[in-house]
Amino acid sequence: MASTTRYIFVTGGVTSSLGKGILASSLAKLLQERGYRVTIQKFDPYINVDPGTLNPYEHGECFVTEDGAETDLDLGHYERFLNIPTSQANNVTTGRIYQTVIQRERKGDYGGKTVQVIPHITDEIKRCMMLLGEEGKFDIVITEIGGTVGDIESLPYVETVRQLKYELGNRGLVIHLTLLPYLQTSGELKTKPTQHSVKMLLQSGVQPDILVARTEFHMTKEVRGKIALFCNLPQSAVVESMDAETIYDVPLMLKKENLDTVVLKKLKLKPGKTPELVEWRAFLSRLKNPLETVTVGLVGKYVELHDAYKSIAEALTHGGSVNEIKVDLKWIHSEDVNPENADRLLGSLDGILVAPGFGERGIEGKVIAVQYAREKGIPFFGICLGMQVAVIEFGQNVIGLKDCISTEFKPNAENPVICLMEEQKQVKQLGGTMRLGGYDCDLKKDSLAYRAYRKSSIRERHRHRYEFNPAYSEKFEAAGMVITGTNPDTGLAEIVEITSHPYFLATQFHPEFRSTVENPHPLFVSFLKAAYQHHQKARD
Ligand code: GLN
Repeated sequence: MASTTRYIFVTGGVTSSLGKGILASSLAKLLQERGYRVTIQKFDPYINVDPGTLNPYEHGECFVTEDGAETDLDLGHYERFLNIPTSQANNVTTGRIYQTVIQRERKGDYGGKTVQVIPHITDEIKRCMMLLGEEGKFDIVITEIGGTVGDIESLPYVETVRQLKYELGNRGLVIHLTLLPYLQTSGELKTKPTQHSVKMLLQSGVQPDILVARTEFHMTKEVRGKIALFCNLPQSAVVESMDAETIYDVPLMLKKENLDTVVLKKLKLKPGKTPELVEWRAFLSRLKNPLETVTVGLVGKYVELHDAYKSIAEALTHGGSVNEIKVDLKWIHSEDVNPENADRLLGSLDGILVAPGFGERGIEGKVIAVQYAREKGIPFFGICLGMQVAVIEFGQNVIGLKDCISTEFKPNAENPVICLMEEQKQVKQLGGTMRLGGYDCDLKKDSLAYRAYRKSSIRERHRHRYEFNPAYSEKFEAAGMVITGTNPDTGLAEIVEITSHPYFLATQFHPEFRSTVENPHPLFVSFLKAAYQHHQKARD
């Protein structure tokens, strides 16, 4: 039987950073609410095989999937909006495409042919684009093409979309996202960049079916008409996407513009039930009507680029909504924190979160932040490196261990309280070789973690090479830092807590990757609850 899966391709024009990921996620949410099984995948035109080796300054956070893929941060949005997990297959890069084609060529699979961009690279792109749809698990697959139309490196992707659109007929559709700049002097939204961008797509043989325009002001009828005329589209297929107060407003805004119904009509699919988005609206209403503002400091070394901590910031938003509080997030550069300014930088915080990271830069400041939270009784949440630093600080300042550090920073330390995992010792290559993805974890009853999750067995995602050195666990537990979460197979410490502290919890795993609008992560909810209580106490 021929496949009935529909394919929607989302391209971007005029500038980057217009929010193709949010557009794709919002549309997917609406289609999901209408009863369709939808997934989103992203194709990135860079040569890295995955973003795992990229510096966060280059590309923001690296999002980790349940099956252990290091992926683009847009996959985080897909999961947060759709509330279903993505996988390795949802993120493909040019590097991965070429790697597969070159491996095939080396095996002799091309039978002596010259291997070329068209058809060999485009065929491989096509194969990857169709993969998720062929499993029969999805009615609609949305494919986001990274980059901007007109980029040299995007060309093979646009060419593949051209071929697929032809092959799929009514089952394929292209949405092009552009920007309508507003000119203050003439007081107008300008359509020319959009016209040029669509011309560029047309030059590659792709006629967009729907044009979504990002804009600061509402489009007039004339503007909509002009875009429709220049881009060979009916006015109903020109959709406005206004700047939003929060990304979570976008599905509702696009629903008002009927994007979902226009899409379904073009794909010859039934409209299904009208999206009510009951839970979504309740989440938004709590988010926008908070009882109090609670201040949380995020201590990290990439804070200049907020995208480097995207999932953490979003998980705090989800957890804030559950607690009916607004989280005022203070971005604190770990290199700025020292004993002299700790009071000024950290004193007014209701909660301190020490972020994940790699390498020695900023470690001292993170240690000081942990010490401050521990000594002043400020709710503390450490994630991955944040947990390792919490262990280091406790070893140094509570137990009094000399030269107490991670072997990541000092291979021959006298007290290597954090050390390389056994399985990592043979690893030579950087890409894709960390302990990645979902692993089980058993929780101790009577712990903060157990109270938050309300169950004793959980599964969380990971991305690390180092661990709490088990040789030190007894000493730490005796001094008051207890291990409340462990891997059932290896005994690896997944969570530590300080029982005498109002709220001090740190995890080796990354809870932020599993927080969604409909399933806010329990550890973020409980951390913010503690921060809220701290805030109320401080006010009394
Ligand atoms: N650098 C540490 C490790 O590899 C922590 C990693 C992280 O924070 N994601 O174990």
